[in-house]
Amino acid sequence: MTRTTPPRPLDVEAVFPELAAYRGTTTRLHPRPGAPTVADSSVGGPLLWPTGEAWPVCTEPHDRGTGYRTRDVRRARRGDGGSLGPQDRRRLLDLPDDHPVPMIALAQLYRRDVPDLRPGPDGADLLQLFACPFDAHGRSGHGTKVHVHWRHSAEAAGAEVADPQPEPEVVGFDGYVPEPCVLHPEQVVTYPFAGCLPEELCERLDAWEDEREEEAEEQTVEQPWTDRGPDGDHGDETPDIPRYQYDLSVPPGWRAGGYASWHTTDPYPMDCQVCATPMELLLTVDSGEWDGTVSWRPVEDAGLPPHPHASPTQVVFGRWGELNVFACPGDPGHPHRWSIQ
Ligand SMILES: [Zn+2]
Ligand SMILES: [Zn+2]
Repeated sequence: MTRTTPPRPLDVEAVFPELAAYRGTTTRLHPRPGAPTVADSSVGGPLLWPTGEAWPVCTEPHDRGTGYRTRDVRRARRGDGGSLGPQDRRRLLDLPDDHPVPMIALAQLYRRDVPDLRPGPDGADLLQLFACPFDAHGRSGHGTKVHVHWRHSAEAAGAEVADPQPEPEVVGFDGYVPEPCVLHPEQVVTYPFAGCLPEELCERLDAWEDEREEEAEEQTVEQPWTDRGPDGDHGDETPDIPRYQYDLSVPPGWRAGGYASWHTTDPYPMDCQVCATPMELLLTVDSGEWDGTVSWRPVEDAGLPPHPHASPTQVVFGRWGELNVFACPGDPGHPHRWSIQ
């Protein structure tokens, strides 16, 4: 079944024609539970990874024995063996701090399936995304470690692949264990995060929203805002007006290309560490496919509930946040960078 994003609640270019210069596209991946094969683009599915090739491992020094058994995470999700909560985190393995731990395969994307996926080095067409299942990296000692592998799929097609594929026995956090999902890519229009637009335009967007909010509040006095729809959107007395950040610019959910959201940290420079070129968004991994603002919920999913249930992949980054992976537009072989929002 395809997934179709509803039309935006208003045409933002009719109000701010200068936004046309920033109009871009992004491909929403719309992951949904399924049984993908190595020949499919997927989240949490088997990778096209020949048996003879070394599987990516994390050897950065950190504890790799405390958390949950990966099999218990899956068992709990099936409702077999009770639920799993922070109280169940414990030390399960005694391993040296630099023992190679297999990275988790989060996703693989074939360019033929995903219109906004940029090519990899030398025209590589298959992106394979991995993460270390422990938040124990970087300067803070609590950061994420992501690994992107690019492959020419034709060179590996038909190769024998390991079944099951390597995975860590213990994960530091259950949000690193993806559920197998097939994808339903859909290209949509997108605009930059407001804080990345020229300051003057950003201020006018803010003023426009404030004005519309005031108008809506004035109307509320005469006609109480009783109908919030079956989803209980927003859940408070905020008038339900479309907002640039939530409804008109960057869609939620897993997607490729387009613009990054910076709602947690505010924008900061993401320049290539090799050539200093400003990097562009490659891929977003999102904890939810939509949240309280359900305007992005595909029409085919009309009956499904809002946050926190819209997480078909069960992958969670940060505090129900998102992982943005960036690529160098000058040379796709330069190392990727990422930010958690
Ligand atoms: Zn690690
Ligand atoms: Zn570069």
